[in-house]
Amino acid sequence: MSFLVKHRLSKIFQPLNMPAKSSKITSKSLKLMLDLGFIQNSVPGCFNFLPLGIKSLQKLTKIIDEEMSNIGGQKMLFPSLINTKLWNDSGRLEEAGPELFKLQDRHQKSYILSPTHEEVATEMLSTLSPLSYREFPLKFYQISTKFRDEIKPRFGLMRGREFIMKDMYTFDIDLNSAKKTYEEVCESYENIFKTIGMDFVKVLGNSGLMGGHLSHEYQFKSSIGEDNLLHCESCDYYVNAELCEDRSKCPQCGDSNKIKVHSGIEVGHTFLLGEKYSKLLNTKYISMNQESKVLQMGSYGLGISRMLAACLEVLSTDSDMRWPNSIAPYNIIILPAKEGSKEETLTKGVPEKVYSFLEERIPDLRDNILLDDRTGLTIGRRLLEAKRVGYPFIVVINKRTSEDSSLVELFHTKTKQTMYLTYEALLDYI
Ligand code: ATP
Ligand code: MG
Ligand code: MG
Ligand code: MG
Repeated sequence: MSFLVKHRLSKIFQPLNMPAKSSKITSKSLKLMLDLGFIQNSVPGCFNFLPLGIKSLQKLTKIIDEEMSNIGGQKMLFPSLINTKLWNDSGRLEEAGPELFKLQDRHQKSYILSPTHEEVATEMLSTLSPLSYREFPLKFYQISTKFRDEIKPRFGLMRGREFIMKDMYTFDIDLNSAKKTYEEVCESYENIFKTIGMDFVKVLGNSGLMGGHLSHEYQFKSSIGEDNLLHCESCDYYVNAELCEDRSKCPQCGDSNKIKVHSGIEVGHTFLLGEKYSKLLNTKYISMNQESKVLQMGSYGLGISRMLAACLEVLSTDSDMRWPNSIAPYNIIILPAKEGSKEETLTKGVPEKVYSFLEERIPDLRDNILLDDRTGLTIGRRLLEAKRVGYPFIVVINKRTSEDSSLVELFHTKTKQTMYLTYEALLDYI
């Protein structure tokens, strides 16, 4: 058995209890992420992502990448600088107004910093000679930084001015196939939330600035959410209240007795756009009968950095982070006995042995186990910190192991249970 330990807490930059600087602590997720060294304030609405924050973000990204690729999504990347003229042509320059970051280059050419990429994705196809109907559907997606000069950036990552979004743009030859694609992407969104392990509701959305035929929002119910969701308990229908002209009765079944209002955090938004952008930008294909026809589009956003914070809002306590297992920065942390203690002498090499054992027996845990090898800290202090970060499983090598080397202590964060287990039993439990 090799005792190579790749992930050591002593090597991870995790400044604890950072001052909040000028910006106020407006949400639980922001407080926890600052206190526990996941992010750091930068200019208003912008954050430095620190190593543990990035670790969780990458796990979330991987889940999304896998689902996008399952439905034939082709990953690509558009520039953040967008020619202002393109947004002028689509009519959104006026509409989006002060939310746009605008700049000029040294030749006085005007650009906006991308808040979303419908125009750019559409233009990509309109500059080619029209593709044949055989090439469709096409599904492009990217994961990139978006810029919006929010009037009130707040709640940390939940409403930033610079944030990370997954956005997909789909092209179909007719509205029926575009609807099929829309359903397919909606289903993949549901798979994403299930894989992450978060409860969500799908809500009839507000198409707002984006336009188009139909839209749905994916929302996490939470008191901090800025959206009001109407739920009809008679027919289990959800709609964003912003849409709704008559909020007293269900737009689907008409019942007015069972309407409840919930607050929600919008984590994703899907749009069946139809021809809105493709017609304006003349984006066409060649049909079976050799006619040139306008493409039908869909656009699908998922707020990745917002989702990270939203999971914390829903699951955490005021003092402790709680993650869905799928996106905790590490699934298991191992705490050796305090350096220089009698227990440490008696358990020399055991923490490394447990680390290698778990990694070898559960290959999925590779890169998901962390050894807290920081010196000079008591077990109690490190246990407290580990609980605050919310690592799902905390393995403690202490007195009990020093008496019986076949046993380790396991603290299960979700159930708050402490147990003493043999290595094999530990595997089974995890
Ligand atoms: P909101 O209603 O909260 O302002 P939006 O409707 O303007 O969001 P969309 O244009 O639908 O947002 O963008 C797709 C996704 O991007 C949203 O569902 C959300 O998850 C995320 N998002 C939007 N604005 C922000 C922001 N300022 N900070 C972080 N994530 C954001
Ligand atoms: Mg907005
Ligand atoms: Mg919205
Ligand atoms: Mg939206």
